[in-house]
Amino acid sequence: MNPWRDLPSAPGSGRVVDTVIENCAIATVDAQGTEYESGHILLTGGTILAVGPGAAPPVADGARRIDGTGCLATPGLVNTHHHLYQWIFRGLAQDATLFGWLIELYPRWARIDEDAVAAAAQAGLGWLALSGCTTSTDHHYLFPRGAGDLLCVTIEAARLIGLRFDPTRGSMDRGRAHGGLPPDEVVEDLDRILAASQDAIDRYHDPSPGSLTRIALAPCSPFSVSSELMAESAALARANRVRLHTHLAETVDEEEFCLATYRCTPAEYAESLGWLGPDVWLAHCVHLSDAAVKRFAATGTGTAHCPSSNGRLGAGHARIKDLLDAGAPVGLGVDGAASQESGMLVEELRSALYVSRLRAGSPEPERALNARTALFLGTRGGARLLGREDEIGSLEPGKCADIALWRLDGLGHADIADPVAALVLGPAAPLKLLTVHGRTVVEDGELRTADAAHLARRARAASRRMTDAQGS
Ligand SMILES: [Zn+2]
Repeated sequence: MNPWRDLPSAPGSGRVVDTVIENCAIATVDAQGTEYESGHILLTGGTILAVGPGAAPPVADGARRIDGTGCLATPGLVNTHHHLYQWIFRGLAQDATLFGWLIELYPRWARIDEDAVAAAAQAGLGWLALSGCTTSTDHHYLFPRGAGDLLCVTIEAARLIGLRFDPTRGSMDRGRAHGGLPPDEVVEDLDRILAASQDAIDRYHDPSPGSLTRIALAPCSPFSVSSELMAESAALARANRVRLHTHLAETVDEEEFCLATYRCTPAEYAESLGWLGPDVWLAHCVHLSDAAVKRFAATGTGTAHCPSSNGRLGAGHARIKDLLDAGAPVGLGVDGAASQESGMLVEELRSALYVSRLRAGSPEPERALNARTALFLGTRGGARLLGREDEIGSLEPGKCADIALWRLDGLGHADIADPVAALVLGPAAPLKLLTVHGRTVVEDGELRTADAAHLARRARAASRRMTDAQGS
């Protein structure tokens, strides 16, 4: 291995190193799976300039130096499925299946407003940062009339916390009056949704390389959305070159709904509407046939695997190893906090591995995930789902400086020799540093961009207000 192969900007190149991270183990998650027992990372202007083994080469005076002794550097984690507003609706419907849980929670969710969503999004994003996440999506599909600009407040929350953010303009148009599951007061009509979707793209979508905000379109699920909205959203997204997201094949109940309503499985239904393709990523995909797994691989359709949420709702074990073996893209998501109260993305690495081995009945790498595959899913796999694999998801020169530096020298991890095993199999590790585009978001285990205690107080007040509103 040539230790200098990753130094395109050697002295004389004119690019000034502004940050040096050194003395840490490094898992680059590049295509070769390159790892260094002890190495360094050089940053310049929000991008990675070099990654290599051993001590950092001399750099100009004035560069910030981070001593990573006892730490592991990985790409920042990428969260590919979430509903940030749910942060203030945790601990409810604890023993319900997906449909029962939704029916219990829809009336509470119908009360949301800008203040409640802002409080939930700031808390949820702050918590994601503290669990190593540098890029997140958000699937917001609830827009009660008169509730304000709810998409805008989630984008403002991401800018406050400092995460890279690819939110979706979600939607529901199939209420109970039309055979859907949601109450009619929380759905919108088709024209309003399409106009709001175009507006969201026009106002917020930034396609430039390394951008901090990109929009996708995301009708909610087969049982809350009309076929027309699915097809029209796909057409609108493709006309604007933005991505598509929805829930699919999450539960047996959903499959039965599709068979009864559309006379086909959820995956067949999605394909009939133009919803399989390299610009589509789908949450859950627990119940897929062999034929569906092949179609996902052939079309490049992504799966956002949310193992803890699937466990909380008893949805089943997703066929992640089968999807990966077939060549289909897969990333990880925490899902909304109302069905996954933890909200810690780093924990999903371990959950994905465990669920895979429980499904296989075996820990053998030929049959189930291992620690490095789990780390891949949480980083580069997720980056591909968001169409950002050239920008984030691995530590390589030219990519964005989105880096998690995990402390592995404390009581919870210090005796585990393999740092990747310590991160994935051990308890959730604290962060020495988290950078997004080179900017510090977390340092020494604390959020630096916002006051975590204030976020907690605000979320608690919003949660109580929503609960009181329901009771009044
Ligand atoms: Zn979800």
